[in-house]
Amino acid sequence: MEVVEKGVRRLTFALPFGIDHVHCYLLRSSSGGWILVDTGLGSADPEAQWRPVLDELDAPIEQIIVTHMHPDHVGGARDIQELTGAPVLQGREDYDQCVAAWGHRDTERFVAYWTSHGMPGLTIEGIARESERLMAAVHWVEGPQLLDPGDEVDGWRVEVLRGHADGHIVLLRDGVMIAGDTILGGITPAIGLYPNSRPDPLGDYLQTLDRIEQLAPRVAYTGHRAAVGDPTARAREIRSHHIERLSYAQQALDGEPLSGYDVSLALFPGDLPPTLRRFATAESLAHLERLVHEGRAGRAGLAYVRTGI
Ligand SMILES: [Zn+2]
Repeated sequence: MEVVEKGVRRLTFALPFGIDHVHCYLLRSSSGGWILVDTGLGSADPEAQWRPVLDELDAPIEQIIVTHMHPDHVGGARDIQELTGAPVLQGREDYDQCVAAWGHRDTERFVAYWTSHGMPGLTIEGIARESERLMAAVHWVEGPQLLDPGDEVDGWRVEVLRGHADGHIVLLRDGVMIAGDTILGGITPAIGLYPNSRPDPLGDYLQTLDRIEQLAPRVAYTGHRAAVGDPTARAREIRSHHIERLSYAQQALDGEPLSGYDVSLALFPGDLPPTLRRFATAESLAHLERLVHEGRAGRAGLAYVRTGI
């Protein structure tokens, strides 16, 4: 555990896939306890995972906040909730998404979605196998205290910043943003279109970048990698990145209708393992939907065609 700021500690867990780590944060509460933000993946042995953390703390964890419903953020919520008895707080919209993603599994719908976007059967089988494994590590909590934008938790203001996840919340106080994955240094947050997504996640995310510039926090403590020391500048960089990727996606539409999967092969070439191809396809779909919203692409059934010049 690392002190990153007076009253803010960072706790890092290793991840077995993709990015190799995730950061959780501990915020000193006004009563001298701790508020845990994010929980890593669920563990087969919660005691072994969390006891060293609890032993290192000088006071109990009083509340557990989840920034968003991705496995590496919500996954350990039930583990630490059971160990501490602390209540879990989660964004209202994010909780709905959490229930939709992890609450009831609909394999048919899952397969139909990726098939309709052009993904080959073998890749879908691979994704299904990997997501089965992932499900086992998502120990989310039913019936959390629901947070809305503008709520305050012990002096930290809640905002919803959409895009990486539809109902992603962040916490803000005195120029400090506990950002989850809304902004990251060195890598760009994944923005993907999924079966339960809002219709234009990249459009949502571009608004989030505007909002971060407006808020101009001094620092953003992020879910992965190093903290972002100049979130405004980083928001501008990430916006330029997406503007560039949007033109690549438009250029990939060269006449014939193409599926999201086809476009992902142009934007993310190479032989990717199934889960990474899923990210690539979801990300390509988010870009294609943005192009449709901007009038730069059209739909041909579930495929996309270039419009205009
Ligand atoms: Zn995430």
